[in-house]
Amino acid sequence: MAQVERQQWDVVVVGAGGAGLRAAIEARERGARTAVICKSLFGKAHTVMAEGGIAASMGNVNEGDNWQVHFRDTMRGGKFLNQWRMAELHAKEAPDRVWELETWGALFDRTPDGRISQRNFGGHEYPRLAHVGDRTGLELIRTLQQKIVALQQEDFKEHGDYEARLKVFQECTVTRVLKDGERVSGTFCYERESGRFLVLEAPAVVLATGGIGKSFKTTSNSWEYTGDGHALALLAGAPLLNMEFVQFHPTGMVWPPSVKGILVTESVRGDGGVLRNSEGKRFMFDYVPDVFKEKYAESEEEGDRWYEDPDHNRRPPELLPRDEVARAINSEVKAGRGSPHGGVFLDVSTRMPAERIRRRLPSMYHQFKELADVDITAEPMEVGPTCHYVMGGIAVDSETAATVGVPGLFAAGEVAGGMHGSNRLGGNSLSDLLVFGRRAGLHAAGYAASPGGRPAVSQAQVDAAAAEALAPFHAVEGAENPYTLHQELQTAMNDLVGIIRREGEMAEALEKLAGLRVRAARAGVEGHRQFNPGWHLALDLRNMLLVSECVARAALERTESRGGHTREDCPAMERSWRPVNLLCRPVDPAPADPAADRITLVRTRTDPIRPDLLALFEKEELVKYLAEEELYE
Ligand code: FAD
Repeated sequence: MAQVERQQWDVVVVGAGGAGLRAAIEARERGARTAVICKSLFGKAHTVMAEGGIAASMGNVNEGDNWQVHFRDTMRGGKFLNQWRMAELHAKEAPDRVWELETWGALFDRTPDGRISQRNFGGHEYPRLAHVGDRTGLELIRTLQQKIVALQQEDFKEHGDYEARLKVFQECTVTRVLKDGERVSGTFCYERESGRFLVLEAPAVVLATGGIGKSFKTTSNSWEYTGDGHALALLAGAPLLNMEFVQFHPTGMVWPPSVKGILVTESVRGDGGVLRNSEGKRFMFDYVPDVFKEKYAESEEEGDRWYEDPDHNRRPPELLPRDEVARAINSEVKAGRGSPHGGVFLDVSTRMPAERIRRRLPSMYHQFKELADVDITAEPMEVGPTCHYVMGGIAVDSETAATVGVPGLFAAGEVAGGMHGSNRLGGNSLSDLLVFGRRAGLHAAGYAASPGGRPAVSQAQVDAAAAEALAPFHAVEGAENPYTLHQELQTAMNDLVGIIRREGEMAEALEKLAGLRVRAARAGVEGHRQFNPGWHLALDLRNMLLVSECVARAALERTESRGGHTREDCPAMERSWRPVNLLCRPVDPAPADPAADRITLVRTRTDPIRPDLLALFEKEELVKYLAEEELYE
C-alpha cells in the first residue's frame, strides 16, 4: 500500500492563479485555516500571462462609464447567454476589487491627472481596462502573492509559525476530490518533484484551476491548462455548463511554428493597430454583423477619428468582440487573402511612432523581436486564431460560487461557467477572478465553519486514488505513449471541434475520443515517481479526454452558432436556443468499458433575466436576442 501523508485544513483552494489566491486571502481573513495547492511554482500561474488589463467601470478616462454599461457590454459580448446575476455582480464589484489591489500595493499605469489609466478593448463601450503596460497579470499575481506573505507574517507574530493559517503547497497536483457521502472531505494530490502522495482533508474545497486549452493543438494557454478542475468536479458529481463555448482569440502568432498560438494582446488593436489582408485591405469593415452595425464605424476615416474623439464617432470594427474578429480572419485566409504563413497582418508600425509602441506594448515588442525576428515598430505582425479561453465550466451558484449538488465544493475563475455566456470580452477574466475568487473564499470559509462536523476521508477512497495514480507504472505490454496520445487528441480537437464546426466532423471526433480513451487506459511510463513528466501527462490525459468529450458532445447538440460556437451547418444564432443551457453530467456509475460514453447531456432552462436589467436595453435590441416566449414574459 502506498504511503500517504494526511493533513487537516478548513478550506483547500486548488489553484494559485488570480482566482485561487483571491479566494485563499478571503478564506484566511474570515478565519479559516487555508491551504493553497498549485501544480506550478507559486507565482507562475497562467494569470501571469494576462497582458491587456482588468475590466472595471471606474470611469477614469470616460465619465460616461458605470456598472450598467459594463453589464450591457458583457451580456452583448456573451450573446445573452450569460448567467445574468453573475454579470451583474461582476460589473458592480469589479471597481472595488481593482481599488483593493492598489491598497495592497499594485501600481497601475496613470492618466495625466494621476488616476488609474484605462484602455480600450474589444466589445467595451468605454476605455475600461486598468493596466500595467502589457504585463497586468504579472502585477496582479505579484500583489496577491505579497498579500499572502503579509498574512503569513501576521500569523508568525501571533503563532510563531508562518504557515499556521495559510500554507501554499507548490508543484503539487490534485488528482481527486474526496467525499464523505455527498459532502466534500478533501483532496488527494501528489508532489511533482518527489512523487509523494498527500491527502489534505477539509470540509470545503475551492476549485480555481483555470482552463482547458492544452486539449487543442494551437493555443495561447500554458502547460497547466489540462482541464483538471473541470474533470475533478465531474468526477465528484458536479455538472459542467455549456462546454461547447470555447474562445479562439483572433490574434495568436502564426510563425515560426515553435511559437504558433502565443498571444498577441488585443491592446494592440485597442491602441490603434489594424488588420489587413494580403491585398492591404482593412477587411473588418466587411464583417460587422447586423446586431452590431449601429455601434461600429462604416469607414476607415470614422474609425480612425474615434481614437481621438470617441464621443462623436463610432469605434473601428477591429474592436468587435473576439468571436467576430476570429471568424473574419478565418474567412479571409480561406478565401486566399491570408499572409504567407496562413494568418493576416496586424499593423501598428504605420499607426504609431516607434517610441510609443515600445512604451505601450513592451512585451509585444520583445516577443516578436526575440521569437520571430520581427520588429513591430517597422513591419506588421502575422496573426491568426488560437484557442484561448473556455467560457463553459463548472456550474455554480451566482452568489456563492457553490457547485451544484456537491456540498462543500466551490469553483471560481476560468474553471467556473456562466459568467461570460457564449463569449468573454477581453479584460473580463481578470475582474471575474477577483470578484468571484473573493466570493468563493468567503462562502467556502462560511461553509467550513458551519455546524455539521468534519466529514471523514475513508482509507478505501485514499487507496483507490493512489492505485489510480500509480496505474501508468503498471502498464502491460503494448503500453501507449502518453505524448503520442496527447498529440492525437490535440489534432482531433483542433481539426474536428475547432473554430468552425460541422456535424459529421464532431461525430468523428467523438469516435476518435472513444478510441483514445481505450488507448489511454493502457498509457504507460517508465522510471519512478520522482519528477517524471511522462507520468504527469499520463494522469492529465484522463482530464483532457473527459473535458474534450464534454466540448464535442455539447457542440454537436447545439444546432446554432453563438459566440465561441460556430457551426458551418447551422450558421444562424437561433433565438429559441437563447434560454437553453447544456449541462454535462458524468454517467453514473462510471462504465467499466473505456470506449463507452462518460458523459450525458441534460438541457435546462436559464433563469429569466430580471426586468430592471432587461430595461437597460432597447426593445429593438432584445428582439434580436430573446426567444419569442421570453419577450412575452
Ligand atoms: P490560472 O491563473 O491559470 O491558475 C490556475 C492554477 O491552478 C495554477 O496555479 C495551476 O498550477 C493550478 N492547477 C491547475 N490544475 C491543478 C491541479 N490538478 N492541481 C493543483 N493545481 C492545479 N484575461 C483578462 O481579463 N485580461 C487580459 O489581459 C488577459 N490576457 C491574457 C493573455 C494570455 C496570453 C492568456 C493566455 C490569457 C489572458 N487572459 C486575460 C485570460 C486570463 O489570463 C485567464 O482566464 C485567467 O488568468 C485565469 O485565471 P485562473 O485563476 O482561473 O487560473
